[in-house]
Amino acid sequence: MLPQVPPSSILSTPQLTIVVPCYNEEEVLPETTRRLLALLDKLVSAQKVAAESHVLYVDDGSKDRTWELIRELHAQHPAIKGLKLSANRGHQIALISGLFSAQGDVVVSIDADLQDDVSAIESMIDAYAQGHEVVYGVRKLRNVDTFFKRFSAEGYYRLLNTLGVKVVFNHADYRLMSRRAVEAIKEYGEVNLFLRGIVPLIGFRSTSVYYDRSERFAGESKYPLRKMLRLALDGITSFTAFPLRMISVIGLLVSFTSLAMILWVLWVKFFSDNALPGWASSVIPIYFLGGLQLLSIGVLGEYVAKIYFETKRRPRYFIEEML
Ligand code: UDP
Ligand code: MG
Repeated sequence: MLPQVPPSSILSTPQLTIVVPCYNEEEVLPETTRRLLALLDKLVSAQKVAAESHVLYVDDGSKDRTWELIRELHAQHPAIKGLKLSANRGHQIALISGLFSAQGDVVVSIDADLQDDVSAIESMIDAYAQGHEVVYGVRKLRNVDTFFKRFSAEGYYRLLNTLGVKVVFNHADYRLMSRRAVEAIKEYGEVNLFLRGIVPLIGFRSTSVYYDRSERFAGESKYPLRKMLRLALDGITSFTAFPLRMISVIGLLVSFTSLAMILWVLWVKFFSDNALPGWASSVIPIYFLGGLQLLSIGVLGEYVAKIYFETKRRPRYFIEEML
């Protein structure tokens, strides 16, 4: 019998780095480590990834024992590596620092809280072996999230797509990227990187794998409403000038309407007897236009603030320690 020809992926088994941003995650880290190591073991013995594959924990300036834990885990398992940022910089930046420091041929990013099913990583690796350079993890159902979170998140994805920002529906930051894809991301110099919007922009062959999302294994959400809104706004203002354009359109419409109003007022004044000095018709436009102007200035302000931060070219993060 002829020897079986192994698929090309096995000929050059890729080294995998799993990047995990952590902010005050001492409660979940031991369990996360257990599951990720078990998964790595499985993938290594199936010869799907190289033996040097590892987990890279990024400590995003945690205030609890997260970094000490990462140190201990690193001492126990060679496959656990760590990176400590000098301060809390937020989930996106922590993720980026991990991606850019990762050494693997393939990088998978996943949250520390085990909400995303780690076994989907195997399907991601399979998709990579078939030539996909970006593999999006897409959650099947949002039934474990609160109604508010589900409603707001799905509405937001729809809004982004309507505004012309291409994002993958129900995909957060659980994804696989090839070395080439990561290098492409590095070319984007913006300080406010919204990965969910950038990754689809780089192109390359991509696909999605589906998984069930569960509840946080332990601890509390590190994404309070305030941070969520910030990220949502960044996602819009970093990718589209649509709101700015809308201001002009609304301004134009309002101008035309007031023109009609003026004609109507003149007509009432000169051609009818009931020319009561209208309180309503003068006060309503004042409120209406006042509100509209404030809103428009607010939208302008958002974009000006973006320019302000981008022109500063401030460094995104500093690495304090690496294991
Ligand atoms: N996270 C981070 N820095 C922060 C906030 C969160 O690195 O400032 C990490 C956190 O440890 C977790 C991931 O980002 O691994 C997602 O956070 P979380 O699960 O709290 O968000 P949610 O799932 O509730 O949206
Ligand atoms: Mg979570």
